[in-house]
Amino acid sequence: MAAHPHAPQHDSYDVVIVGGAIMGASTAWFLTENRDFDGRVLVVERDMTFSACSTAHTNSCMRQQFSTELNVRISQFAADFVRNLRTYMGGDPRVPQLSIHEFGYMYLADTPAGAEVLRQNLAVQHAAGAATRLMTPDQIAAAYPFYQLDDIVLGSINPVDEGYWDGATVNDWWRRQARERGVEWVENDVVAMTRNAAGTHVDSVTLASGQVVACGQVVNASGPRAARTAAMAGITVPVEPRKRFTWVFRAETPLDRDLPLTVDPSGVHVREIGGGTYQAGGHADIDPAVAPDDFAMDHSLWENHIWPALANRIPQFEAIRVLSEWVGQYAMNTLDQNAIVGPHPEVGNFVFLNGFSGHGLQQSPAMGRGTAEWLTYGAYRTLDLGQFHYDRITRNRPIIERAII
Ligand SMILES: Cc1cc2nc3c(=O)[nH]c(=O)nc-3n(C[C@H](O)[C@H](O)[C@H](O)COP(=O)(O)OP(=O)(O)OC[C@H]3O[C@@H](n4cnc5c(N)ncnc54)[C@H](O)[C@@H]3O)c2cc1C
Repeated sequence: MAAHPHAPQHDSYDVVIVGGAIMGASTAWFLTENRDFDGRVLVVERDMTFSACSTAHTNSCMRQQFSTELNVRISQFAADFVRNLRTYMGGDPRVPQLSIHEFGYMYLADTPAGAEVLRQNLAVQHAAGAATRLMTPDQIAAAYPFYQLDDIVLGSINPVDEGYWDGATVNDWWRRQARERGVEWVENDVVAMTRNAAGTHVDSVTLASGQVVACGQVVNASGPRAARTAAMAGITVPVEPRKRFTWVFRAETPLDRDLPLTVDPSGVHVREIGGGTYQAGGHADIDPAVAPDDFAMDHSLWENHIWPALANRIPQFEAIRVLSEWVGQYAMNTLDQNAIVGPHPEVGNFVFLNGFSGHGLQQSPAMGRGTAEWLTYGAYRTLDLGQFHYDRITRNRPIIERAII
C-alpha cells in the first residue's frame, strides 16, 4: 500500500468523508469500531501534509468551562477517551498511555456583567458535574501571586480535566488503526458533487483527478473549507475561516508555579508549556473571514496588543523572548459558535461535521462517535447531539456558546 494513494480502489463507497484531519479520522475510526456498520469507507484529504488544516495549528487543550451543558458533556467524554486511549483502542500495546496536563483554565472577569456570565456558566457546569469554582481577586492572588489583579472582579477555574493533551497522537492513532481496519485514505481534492433529480440525495463526489465516486452518505469534515464543500452540494452553511495567532515565548524569569490557561478580559490567552516557556494566542479586533489559504502573520498584533496585554496581567512577562509563532484558522460558525452536526434536512445523506470554532479538538471523540452512530443507525445512541443539528440554522435559533476563546 502506497503511503498516500491518490486514486480510490472502488467506484462506490457507503460513506465518503471529505477531509481527513481529526474530525474525519475520528469518524472513520468510530465507524470501524461499530459492530453494526460493515460498509466501505473512503476518506478524501486534499493535503496529507495537513499544512493548512485547523488540527495542525491547534493549542490542543480541553476544558469543562462551557456555557452549554452539551459542550461540557462532550469534553467529559474527551477526558475519559484521552485517559483511556489504549483501552478504547482495543488494548493495542503500540498505542501510548496519555494524560492531561491539568493546569486548569482561569477565566478572568473585569466587569460585574462579565462576573455574572461566569456565575451563570458555573451553574451550567456544576449541573453537568464539572468541578469549576469561582475565586475572588484575593483568593486568586493567594494562589497565583504573579497576576496583576487591580481591575479583576472575579475568576473561575476548574483544575479537573482541563489543560493540555496530545491531540496529534490521538489523531495519528485514529487514522492508523482505521486504515489497518480497511478504511481507504486518499490524497485528492473533492471538487464537485452530484445530486439526484429530486435534489434529496448526493449521488456522487468528483475528485480533482476526475474520478467520480458514488456515495451512500457523504460527511463534510472539511474544517474552515466547510462552506465550500457544502456549496458543491448546493447547500449553505454559516462557517467561515477566521485567523487565529499563536506565539511561543520564553520568560526571562519563569513563574514559580504552573500557569493556568488564563483567559484575559482582553481576549488574549496564555498557558504553560513547561521549562520556562509559555504559549499565547489571540486575534485582531477586526476579525474578517479570510481565504482558506491566507496564513499571513500580522506582526503588529504581538507588539501592539498581545504582549502589552500579557505584561499587564503578568508583569513578569515584560521580559520575554518569542521563540516561534504561527497562524491557524478556526472554522467559525457565525450563527452561534457551536458545532453543526448531523444530516441536512432536505439532502438527507449529506452529513455535517462543521463549525467547531475554537473547541473542535476536544470535541473530536464525541463528534466522531456520534457521527458514526448517525451514519449507522440514523440516530444517536450515546450522547444526543441533536441540539447541534442544522435545523437551528434554517429556523434561526442559535444555541449561543458564550465561553469561546
Ligand atoms: C490556533 C488554534 C487553536 C486551537 N486551539 C484549540 C484548543 O486548544 N482546543 C480545542 O479543542 N480546539 C482548538 N482549536 C480548534 C480545533 O483545532 C479545530 O476545531 C479542529 O482541529 C477541527 O478539525 P477538523 O478536522 O474539523 O478540521 P481541519 O483540521 O481543518 O481539517 C479539515 C481537513 O479537510 C481537508 N479538506 C478541506 N476541503 C477538502 C476537499 N474539498 N477535499 C478534500 N479534503 C478537503 C483539509 O485539507 C483539512 O485537512 C484551535 C484551532 C486553532 C486554529
